[in-house]
Amino acid sequence: MEAAWWFAFQGDRLLVQLEPHEVAIPCLVDFAELGLPTLREHYLGFLDGRHCYAVELAEGIAPPKGMSFDGLRQVYGRMDEGLLSVACRAVQIVEWDRTHEFCGRCGARTKMHATERAKECPQCGLLHFPHLAPAIIVLVARGREILLARARRFRSVMYSTLAGFVEAGETLEEAVIREVQEETGITVREITYFGSQPWPFPHSLMIGFTASYAGGEIILNDEENVDARWFTADNLPQLPDKISIARKLIDSFLEKQGK
Ligand SMILES: [Zn+2]
Repeated sequence: MEAAWWFAFQGDRLLVQLEPHEVAIPCLVDFAELGLPTLREHYLGFLDGRHCYAVELAEGIAPPKGMSFDGLRQVYGRMDEGLLSVACRAVQIVEWDRTHEFCGRCGARTKMHATERAKECPQCGLLHFPHLAPAIIVLVARGREILLARARRFRSVMYSTLAGFVEAGETLEEAVIREVQEETGITVREITYFGSQPWPFPHSLMIGFTASYAGGEIILNDEENVDARWFTADNLPQLPDKISIARKLIDSFLEKQGK
């Protein structure tokens, strides 16, 4: 038997091994080696030739010696990117399984679908897929300047690109225009797809765009931000972590300027 990666969660906190410079995921033939009782287990697939599993642990269980339960936000940037992306998938599958034990339409107990990652209601046939909430994130540029905002929820003095959830019935482009307008009073054009990133807090998919300034002056319209400003490459504030799509958007803009 080959050793597998085990992504074990207690609530939304991941069981990690404490190593000097980074955090590691337990790599074991059988999770039972750790002697922790499990509530749920899901097969996730392969990473670098190893099987990966998601496991849910009951609350109140202490981590084994040399390990701890850490929030995914804490391990961001301290874990291998491939492992981190599986961890983001694992936490969402465990959460979906836990919150869809019963059918949302008729209340019957659901069961796992035979071939799809879905839970099926044996009574009314409704399928429940893992929930995803799409959110747009956008870098607005005006010549050599970029528009960044400091969100109220940020604990540090970090500035980041604007972001927000897509509303029902809205296209991604409409969401970009609305969010930028609502948050800063700025109108944008030339909305171009950049890339995406799963963001499991708790189940977002960040869809990144670039856009150009079309008009308006900065007005903080809602409660979300405490500040928003135009920054140039020579005059940047504290930025989000390298691993985030927000930072990738900013770095890509700077690269194009040769910075
Ligand atoms: Zn049902």
